Amino acid sequence: MIPPSLTECRRCGTCCDKGGPTFHVEDRMLVDSGLVPAKHLYTLRKGELVNDSIKGRLLPLESEMIKIKGQNRAWTCVYFDKAGSACGIYEHRPLECRILKCWDTRDIEAVYSQNRLTRKDLLSGIPALWSLIQDHDLRCSHVTLRKLLDAKSVGATAKKTVQEMVEYDRAIRILVVEKAGVESNMLDFIFGRPLSEAIR
Ligand code: SF4
Repeated sequence: MIPPSLTECRRCGTCCDKGGPTFHVEDRMLVDSGLVPAKHLYTLRKGELVNDSIKGRLLPLESEMIKIKGQNRAWTCVYFDKAGSACGIYEHRPLECRILKCWDTRDIEAVYSQNRLTRKDLLSGIPALWSLIQDHDLRCSHVTLRKLLDAKSVGATAKKTVQEMVEYDRAIRILVVEKAGVESNMLDFIFGRPLSEAIR
């Protein structure tokens, strides 16, 4: 509950506790410079059902989002130090963190869905990896998955297709770790959350 008298940020950390920000084009420097390494990011892909923090309900994403990961499978931003109620990258905190005013959400609402940073912005310069990502997006599309699972009764063919999608999603992750030496903590950024997890 926000006190009605609140007119400035008291750095209480409530917003950081609820989850990390979504990255916008303005935040690209944080990734390029390594201030926020890719292992601390994850991608929510187009069509994935997510809680829209502005509209306050679960909605399929119209375009992908790159976000800062949580801590130990909780939503709390990985850069939030609960004990000290402090941000580990405060001087370089991302756009959403800088403009969020919990007592007046107009500024964040204005930029929330604008100029989102994408994997294409960051990774299309690595052709082999970018090609794998595009292929994975086609084969493991959340839009397709939702159509298959939203049907009134999910038939045997649909179940088989879903199973194949989940298998491919699992296999490509193992492949890039074992054959290309990609660190496993990068996978949720490169390919988004595992399909099996998103289905759950
Ligand atoms: S980056 Fe910093 S200010 Fe932004 S949510 Fe994380 S801890 Fe909070």
